[in-house]
Amino acid sequence: MPAHAPAPHTPVPHAAAPDAPIAPAQPQAASRRGFAPWLAQTNDVTSVFLAAGQIPDLINLGGGLPEPSLWPVEELADLAAAVIRSHPAEALGYGPIPGLPALRDLIAARCSTANLRLTRDNVLITTGGMQALELVGKVLLQPGGTVAAQSPAYLGALDAWRPHVPRYRPMRIERNDHDPRAAMQGAQFAYTVPNFSNPSGRLVSLPERQALVAAAHETGTWLIEDDPYGVLYYEGAPLPRLLDLSAAGHPGPYAGPVVYMGSLSKELTPGLRIGWVVAAPAMIAALATAKQGSDMCTSGLSQMLALRALEGGMTERIRPAILSLYRARRDALCAAMREHLAGDLDWQVPSGGMFVWATARDPRLDTDRLLQVGLAHGVCISPSSVFDPQGQDRRSLRINFTLNPPEALEEGCRRLARAIRATLAA
Ligand code: PMP
Repeated sequence: MPAHAPAPHTPVPHAAAPDAPIAPAQPQAASRRGFAPWLAQTNDVTSVFLAAGQIPDLINLGGGLPEPSLWPVEELADLAAAVIRSHPAEALGYGPIPGLPALRDLIAARCSTANLRLTRDNVLITTGGMQALELVGKVLLQPGGTVAAQSPAYLGALDAWRPHVPRYRPMRIERNDHDPRAAMQGAQFAYTVPNFSNPSGRLVSLPERQALVAAAHETGTWLIEDDPYGVLYYEGAPLPRLLDLSAAGHPGPYAGPVVYMGSLSKELTPGLRIGWVVAAPAMIAALATAKQGSDMCTSGLSQMLALRALEGGMTERIRPAILSLYRARRDALCAAMREHLAGDLDWQVPSGGMFVWATARDPRLDTDRLLQVGLAHGVCISPSSVFDPQGQDRRSLRINFTLNPPEALEEGCRRLARAIRATLAA
């Protein structure tokens, strides 16, 4: 196996992003004068659909938000009060950059299997999975570097790496003739969401997983496995992680090519902002160095809450309710789509996650335009252009089913059907 050592990090100068609240898109050229050039390449459609959540009476099928009533609010409130009193230094002080040792140990144990031995040195606690993506960019991307990315790609990852202005090579994993080695050769890393990808909802099959891992070993390319949705399987047994596959036949402490990212956002609450990376110790050390220049440490209060919640089995307790609610909403959305949108869109029912990816039957339907027309009809979708590094794919859309109850999903589909007709008629 080729050695997996992080390439030396070359810092890329960039201006601080303005932290103004998200506002609908406007011509940005003037307001961006004096900022780094990558800001001018940001797709303005993104800000439109991110801001849409704030429009009253809008049915938001565009975001990727969980159902808040699933959060164990009282239990978390009691735990928060308890850990602040019992562990004020850990909860309220600065902590070690890679995370609280007890939480790193717990994540190492939780992610270990009979064939995969992980220790604390394999684990970095991050401020959400988002920070893990950002740190990977800081550590691995050199100016003009290349990322081999599953296509379509998660918008947050594209946003995290935008300051480095990478070149993207699409990995069309689902195509039978696709050989990931061609895309991965010479890339600084490959990026995949194997479980119910955001945005496509697609589950990468076992043979496809095996091909990705074999290609990573062969080409010496780091393989990023972003896995926030591995806890949201509605049917079928979970497939092995790329992390598991990459450890097979390599006994001993994990030192393979996979950089695995997990998060508590889907199985507990996103506001705790707790994520983790599992990877070879050299990669963890490099990411920790980058984290120092990012936030010093993840909130100690959040880490203590995560530790106590996981130790106490809170995630296992609430999982059945999460799965049955989201499964029912997935079914309600797909039934409403069959009723109202079957003539307009093609899609596959996802077996997990939070999204249905649909493609317009009529090639004249421009989904950037559909976003705007949909807002006027009281429904928001995510257009495919924001998940395309080049911003060019305008044939598809992502529909979220976790946030809205069945009646709203049905009404959202009705409005979407009207918006499609209006878009095509214009
Ligand atoms: N990766 C993917 C594919 C996601 O969809 C998300 C958020 N929805 C994240 C990472 C980041 O999640 P968080 O920062 O909340 O852990």
